[in-house]
Amino acid sequence: MMKSLVVLAAAVALTASPSMQGRSRVVVLGTGTPNADPDRFGPAVAVVVDDASYLVDFGVGVVRRAAAAERAGIVALEATHLTHAFATHLHSDHTLGFADLMLTPWILERRAPLEVYGPRGLKSMATHLVAAYAADIRVRSTGGEPAHQYDARRVNVHEIEPGVVLRDARVTVTAFAVKHGAWPQAFGYRFQTPDRTIVISGDAGPDSGIEAQCQRCDVLVHEVYSEAGFARRPPEWQAYHARYHTSSRQLGAIAARARPRLLVLYHQLIWSSTEEELLKEVRSAYDGEVVSAHDLDVF
Ligand SMILES: [Zn+2]
Ligand SMILES: [Zn+2]
Repeated sequence: MMKSLVVLAAAVALTASPSMQGRSRVVVLGTGTPNADPDRFGPAVAVVVDDASYLVDFGVGVVRRAAAAERAGIVALEATHLTHAFATHLHSDHTLGFADLMLTPWILERRAPLEVYGPRGLKSMATHLVAAYAADIRVRSTGGEPAHQYDARRVNVHEIEPGVVLRDARVTVTAFAVKHGAWPQAFGYRFQTPDRTIVISGDAGPDSGIEAQCQRCDVLVHEVYSEAGFARRPPEWQAYHARYHTSSRQLGAIAARARPRLLVLYHQLIWSSTEEELLKEVRSAYDGEVVSAHDLDVF
């Protein structure tokens, strides 16, 4: 009797969703854009391996969204575990949470300074944010709060070039250049974990060569805009979007060449169209599995 119960328990465990079985997960913390959509926080994606987390971008609300994921059971996203972050580029929608990521976990007794990787200019941004919050840091350090684990003015910024930017016991992180309008440096990131290959586009135009980074990867997280919504935008904005971002049908064609096991849409610019229409547009050029992500989705 005991034995059959054990066997039954094992069978139940194995029917859990695929994303829950392995050591790594993709947690989409924020799917937003500069549009002030109350349902979509600023862009941020966490690659979680065991109890470690690696953030890609830190848009508005990043630490709160991580706390929501922790409450849902992902321990790696507890605030003091947010130790590594990778910026795709310095657009404000992707970096408005930088001060939050530097300071909030520090107050909550993170053990060491943030390690942050990204394009040239990231160091200057960190230095200016530390200066902007000098009064806060001074009062919190000398005004009666219990002693902190390190000096909040320390942020370990790594300005990177394309190639392997981090290798530890759990991941190899490769930065690759993408085309994002006038930005001199914009990156996507590929994570090789013990059980998955995960590619994240960041903001990228259609000629960014992302298919070469994926090549049957497990998860491709890619930005996108709706063609139907685009058609109703003013011409001067159309010229901008076409130069900086990837349309639904262009993404379908990229995915058809990249063949990911799962395509995840994020940073969706939908405008006056709908999410259903957006998915239909992608599917018109791509017959693989695709989902349009919402904040706090886990894959
Ligand atoms: Zn953006
Ligand atoms: Zn951008």
